[in-house]
Amino acid sequence: MSNAETNIDKAPIIGLTGMRWPDGNKNDMFTMDKTQVHYIEAVQRSGGIPIILPVLEIFNSDTVRRQVSLVDAILIQGGIDITPSFYGEEPLPELDITCKKTDEFILEVIKVARERKMPILGICKGMQLINVAFGGTIYQDLKYAGLDSKSHRQSEDTITDTFHSINVEKNSLLAKLIPNKEKLNVNSYHHQAVKDLGRDLRIDAKADDGIIEAISFDGNAQWILGVQFHPEQLIRKDDEFKALFSEFVKQANLFKCK
Ligand code: MN
Repeated sequence: MSNAETNIDKAPIIGLTGMRWPDGNKNDMFTMDKTQVHYIEAVQRSGGIPIILPVLEIFNSDTVRRQVSLVDAILIQGGIDITPSFYGEEPLPELDITCKKTDEFILEVIKVARERKMPILGICKGMQLINVAFGGTIYQDLKYAGLDSKSHRQSEDTITDTFHSINVEKNSLLAKLIPNKEKLNVNSYHHQAVKDLGRDLRIDAKADDGIIEAISFDGNAQWILGVQFHPEQLIRKDDEFKALFSEFVKQANLFKCK
């Protein structure tokens, strides 16, 4: 048992945002709320207590504020494509399925978490949603970045293996979490990517083809990290990325004790 597990009564509560998921083969029926188990495991193995914040059908700022007030940090998991209207674009042909309700809800969660200055970790689509919340934009498909649509999508059954390298920016949050590594090997399972960076964000890492692979909040007021890869899968095989979750949970604890 780790120290974190022995101090269970004092462990910070991590809120994982849910996501609406199509019911069976009816793509327009978003009646399920899904969470990938490896995010839950990653939080627990790092000493946090995970709880799920389901996407609400009906909400306003007060409802979301009440939900978010129950947790010490927000983890935004990956998912389907982002509704382009949230970054001011019309759908392009290569856009895959989207769920407006999910995006609307998570953007509100991020807004509330920013007001409260809570730690936020966004993974894959979670990183892209952080970018949109800060006014940034998204490539609806890698094709629109001049790349092969499949160039960042390894097969799902190899997701615990690395797929491409990333170049880490000096002095970035990611560089502090995994020190002395200019290059890191990561997995990749996305066909969308960050286009224009949101205000007050900085780039922490890029792939060799220029695709943004990690972003963070540019300032000391709040701990916000977004990664395009899937550390919750990599840590199942290798400890290199465990620091992302352990620092996130540590930040949640600092927020809790404020
Ligand atoms: Mn990638």
